[in-house]
Amino acid sequence: MRAEARIDLDAVRHNIAAVRDRVGAAEVMAVVKADGYGHGMVECARAARRAGAAWLGTALPGEALELRRQGVDGRVLTWLWVPGDPIADALDADVDISVSGRWALDEVVSAAREVGAPARVHLKADTGLGRNGCPPYEWEPLVEAALKAQADGWVRVVGLWSHFACADEPGHPSIAAQLTAFREAVALAERRGVAPEVRHIANSPAALLLPEAHFDLVRSGLATYGLSPVPDVHGSRELGLRPVMTLAASVASVKRVAAGHGVSYGHTWKAARETNLALVPLGYADGVPRHASDTGPVWLAGARRTVVGRVAMDQFVVDLGDDAAEVGDEVVVFGPGDGGAPTAEDWARAAGTIAYEIVTRIGSRVPRVYQGAR
Ligand SMILES: *Cc1c(COP(=O)(O)O)cnc(C)c1O
Repeated sequence: MRAEARIDLDAVRHNIAAVRDRVGAAEVMAVVKADGYGHGMVECARAARRAGAAWLGTALPGEALELRRQGVDGRVLTWLWVPGDPIADALDADVDISVSGRWALDEVVSAAREVGAPARVHLKADTGLGRNGCPPYEWEPLVEAALKAQADGWVRVVGLWSHFACADEPGHPSIAAQLTAFREAVALAERRGVAPEVRHIANSPAALLLPEAHFDLVRSGLATYGLSPVPDVHGSRELGLRPVMTLAASVASVKRVAAGHGVSYGHTWKAARETNLALVPLGYADGVPRHASDTGPVWLAGARRTVVGRVAMDQFVVDLGDDAAEVGDEVVVFGPGDGGAPTAEDWARAAGTIAYEIVTRIGSRVPRVYQGAR
C-alpha cells in the first residue's frame, strides 16, 4: 500500500445517529455532494440511509443521478444546476429539485412535461447568504408562478428552504436575521397556499447548535463525516462525532542527513543538526495541501512528526530526529485523532483552511478502503 483513505462506515452511522439525537423530530438529510466530501458518495449514502437519514442531498443533478444508478433509493434533493442540466433525467429518477428563480421553474416545468409527471420542487430563498436562492424582491412572484405550475399539474411545491452564511459562528447577528427572513419567506408562501412537506435551513453547525433552526429537516454535511463545523468552539468528540476518514501511507525511504542538509524544492528547510528523515509518498496531487509545507503533522513511529520542506506533487518529508523508522512503516496523516495522532482539523490549521477542504480534496489517486458493516 502506497497510501489509502480508510473510510469507517460504522462512524458514518454513528454520526447520523448523533445528529438525529440532536434534532429530535426533524428529519436528517445526509449531504453527499463532492463524492461524499471525498469519502465516497455511494458507500456513505448507503451507510447514512441505514442509520435513518430519510434524505440525501447533492449539489449537482449528475451526483443525484449517480446515486440512483448505483441503486440508492429514498428521497434525494439536488440544488445547484444551470440551464441544460439533465433535469428531465433527474425527475425520471424521482429526484427532488431546488428552484431559486423563474428560469429554473420554467426548465423544471418543461422537464416535467417531457417526463409526463409533476416535479417535486423546493423553493429556495436567499435570506442573506448572497449566493444561490431567490432574492426577496423576486420571492412573491416566484411563489405565485410555482403555485400556477402546481395548479397546472407540473410541479408540487414540497419544500421551502434556505442556507446560512455564518451558522459556524454561534451568536453571529446574521443568524437571527436569516431566521427572521426565512420565517417571513415561509409565511408568505404559506399565505399564498403553499403547503410544504419540509421547511429547512440548518446545515451541520445549525443542526448541532441551533435548535430554533431545525424546522422539519436538517442538512448534515460535515457532521456526517465526523468533523466539527465549529472547531474553535467544540471538537468532534465534544459534539459526539467520530471522524470517518483516516489517511495513511507507507514510508517510502528513510535516511540520515548531516546538519545543514536541505530538503525538497527551494530548500525552505535545512537540518539544524544531523537527523533522520522519512519520505511519505503523498503530495499535493493527492490533496496534501502545499500550504502545509514545513507545518503539517503526521503520526509515525509512535509520535507526532512535522513535515519539513515543501510538500511536492507526489511526496513530502518528515523529520524523525534521532528516532528510527523503517521503509514500509505506516504513517497516519490524519484520522480520528486517537492516541495523539493528527486530525483533518490539525491539517486545516496547518494549511490555513477548513477541514471541509482537507477531506474533499483527497485525490482520486488515493484508493478509498471501506471498513465497518456495509
Ligand atoms: C454543502 C451544503 C450543506 C452541508 O453543509 P455542512 O456545513 O457541511 O453541513 C447544506 N446545505 C447546502 C445548500 C449545501 O450546499
